[in-house]
Amino acid sequence: MVVTRFAPSPTGYLHIGGLRTALFSYLWAKKNKGKFFLRIEDTDKARNSVEAAEAIVNAFHWLGLTHDGEIIYQSSRDEIYAKYIQQLLDEGKAYYCYMSKEELSELRETQMAAKERTMYNGKYRDFDGTPPEGITPAIRIKAPQSGTITVKDGVKGDVIFNCLDILDDFIIARADGSPTYNFVVAVDDALMGVNEVIRGDDHLSNTPKQIVVYEALGFELPKFYHVPMIHNHEGKKLSKRDGATDVMAYKEMGYTPEALLNFLVRLGWSHGDQEIFSMEEMIELFNPKDINKSASIYNTDKLDWLSAHYLKNTPNCELAELLIQYDLILTSHDKKEILLDAIKERAKTLKEMALLAKEILETPSFYDEKAVKKAYKEDSASMLNAFSAKVSACAELHLPSDYHTLMEEVVSELGIGFGKIGQPLRIALLGKLSGPGLDSVMAIIGKDETILRITNVLAAHS
Ligand code: GLU
Repeated sequence: MVVTRFAPSPTGYLHIGGLRTALFSYLWAKKNKGKFFLRIEDTDKARNSVEAAEAIVNAFHWLGLTHDGEIIYQSSRDEIYAKYIQQLLDEGKAYYCYMSKEELSELRETQMAAKERTMYNGKYRDFDGTPPEGITPAIRIKAPQSGTITVKDGVKGDVIFNCLDILDDFIIARADGSPTYNFVVAVDDALMGVNEVIRGDDHLSNTPKQIVVYEALGFELPKFYHVPMIHNHEGKKLSKRDGATDVMAYKEMGYTPEALLNFLVRLGWSHGDQEIFSMEEMIELFNPKDINKSASIYNTDKLDWLSAHYLKNTPNCELAELLIQYDLILTSHDKKEILLDAIKERAKTLKEMALLAKEILETPSFYDEKAVKKAYKEDSASMLNAFSAKVSACAELHLPSDYHTLMEEVVSELGIGFGKIGQPLRIALLGKLSGPGLDSVMAIIGKDETILRITNVLAAHS
């Protein structure tokens, strides 16, 4: 059974790069009818917070990504880590190191002065004398002192590390007893049965150390997939300057989970030239062997395009529900179908949809000066008056086509082109020259509001 996991450190919010590897892990587990676990790596008390862990869990909830089992918090697993540290001590695979801070920094300086790699010198590796007084020891693991460690990576192929260049007997428990990062990651992955680790390639350099831990404890190695980073257009690692990195900021901007997840799955993975993937298709088609070897480029135009696509294809009743979060309550509006049809074609995000709806529903409080200059002419008032009289004389006006018929009548009676009345009427109704079809706008706001808006524009320009 395939078991994957997402293991964020709760230092702030859920980063979109993290979400992408979480999505890959989720899809691969689902495709194989396996398990996808969520583990919060909250052992760094100075940098981690409960709020940040909650923010990650909330983001998962918003996205509809469900994890199997309980969430695992590393902060509650000290006893487990202590047990495995003790096992390594008992088996002679780890040892107490009594080097003081001063001694360590002296060693470091000497190595730097000699232009050598800074590393622990193994002083206490085979120590059997009397330990120095007044020093609480750290615990180091015995790492191989020669040879190579090969990370068999599903994305990058075999990555070979020379032990001499990268390893020393690294600390697995600090003097205060707290276990270190690479130790707990390896222990947890092994105990949770994680057999496919998909994570960012910024972690590749940690993997040899984790392999040392796996081997010392006799755990089976998982498959690793190190996913290249997301870059900006300049080829640099994505930062806040390139766009939002907090997943929840995308919700605030009005993107839906389906658009965001579709956007992310294509950052670093492809299936032919297909761009649109439903969740079912992603699960069916995703395979980590197709993850690209090179960095992917973040492009918000693509996200907007996907988002517009999904909005257009979302049923109106669902849109009305989603728009509540953007302060647009349409649930009991009798023309909500016409309104949503009119705006869903024109918006890239739910937030934009809400703004467009408000522009239609709210009586204009000002008129765009440029539009007035361009399209509100001397004869506009008489045409608007003629149209308004028609509207008020009509008892039954409901559909866009009802209003369209009235407009056609005015146009033919006055012997003018459609634009002649259309443009000033648009200014009256919306305060500007852009927006959806006027017949739809009038059907949405109704007869009285249509007359009111025409009266208002006439008064403002008399
Ligand atoms: N906690 C690490 C991070 O948030 C991830 C560790 C891993 O995936 O192995 O970057």
